Amino acid sequence: MEELSYEKCLDHLERAAYLVLDDLQAAHPDVFRVERHSDAVGVCGPSPSWVWTGLHPEDSRAQEVDWATDWAAETVQEMLVELYSADSAAATWPACPEHAGAHPLTAAGGRWCCPSSGRAVSVIGRLRDVD
Ligand SMILES: [Zn+2]
Repeated sequence: MEELSYEKCLDHLERAAYLVLDDLQAAHPDVFRVERHSDAVGVCGPSPSWVWTGLHPEDSRAQEVDWATDWAAETVQEMLVELYSADSAAATWPACPEHAGAHPLTAAGGRWCCPSSGRAVSVIGRLRDVD
């Protein structure tokens, strides 16, 4: 695969972060936000428990939109665990519609999938369309 430019990788990461935050919005109205810097796309958690995680274009996952999306999704999930460890429902986002309370969905190939059945539940960014 041809190496993408640094700017193109930043574009992928920014787009990926916004897709994940679209999905997060319904579950966590606390303001998570995306910041684009010259050397990273940052995902910022809500204050006062301020957390910031940078997605860097040097990482090979920035080369491809689905990889970037999976990476952004995993990053946000890690941030939720860090922020809401006392609240297991909040920390295990997004809930698996088939196995509520058992596990969160995992990101794979730009989709939210059940880690148990492997079934794809939604494209990342379109979780609101799932009932
Ligand atoms: Zn499941």
